[in-house]
Amino acid sequence: MRLVFLGPPGVGKGTQAQRLSAERLIPKISTGDILREAVQKKTPLGVEARSFMDGGKLVPDEVVIGIIRERLKDPDCRGGFVLDGFPRTVPQAQTLGSMLGRTQSGIDRVLNFELSNDELVRRLSGRRSCPDCQAVYHVEFNPPKKPDQCDRCGGKLIQRSDDQPETIRKRLEVYQSQTLPLIRFYGDQGILTSIDGSGSPETVYRRVMTAVGK
Ligand code: ADP
Ligand code: ADP
Ligand code: ZN
Repeated sequence: MRLVFLGPPGVGKGTQAQRLSAERLIPKISTGDILREAVQKKTPLGVEARSFMDGGKLVPDEVVIGIIRERLKDPDCRGGFVLDGFPRTVPQAQTLGSMLGRTQSGIDRVLNFELSNDELVRRLSGRRSCPDCQAVYHVEFNPPKKPDQCDRCGGKLIQRSDDQPETIRKRLEVYQSQTLPLIRFYGDQGILTSIDGSGSPETVYRRVMTAVGK
């Protein structure tokens, strides 16, 4: 099962992809996570990506395509995968298709998560992340047991530098202009399913299950 999770920042793609990945034993591949790790380690990739990410802009296509090209070669991807946050532009989607070279898109289904802008801003501004294990929390909707501490690994939770009001606004604009065209791109191929992203993570997960089949 080769899946793509599409949708604006904050809609809950990562949360849903994480659960599906754990239950179906297929890897969740998040370009955002890979890039943030590179930034943290100050690798050449991280140094290149950082200013784009801090400004709420997309990292250039060649860079993220290179990341995905390498990652998909890993043996754990043979039985399928969930792509979370990739592709984000039409050229990325086209290259993914030629990389996988099975069908036109190379993937089985695209889940397009939808949510109102107000709710997106609420989810993004309350998000807290663990820099050590990438676990994601929300101050109101999914708080950690101890304040500012990761339940899973004890790491000190942070607010991502791009989850600030000004950058959130910019990222939502970037989504509208650069990523929204993918809905048409995948819709035309007949592999797109829209998922209502509102409600609890549990409620949304049930919709995901219906879309991908039990
Ligand atoms: P994305 O990967 O699409 O940017 P995340 O999965 O990181 O989104 O979720 C964004 C924020 O919203 C996180 O703080 C997460 O804990 C919270 N969240 C995720 N799903 C829900 C939900 N169904 N209801 C309320 N909050 C949610
Ligand atoms: P969110 O789901 O909250 O939007 P991500 O963790 O997916 O955030 O991405 C964070 C940042 O990493 C993006 O704002 C962008 O700068 C960069 N990024 C992640 N994935 C891509 C991609 N496919 N193409 C270009 N830039 C990306
Ligand atoms: Zn942690």
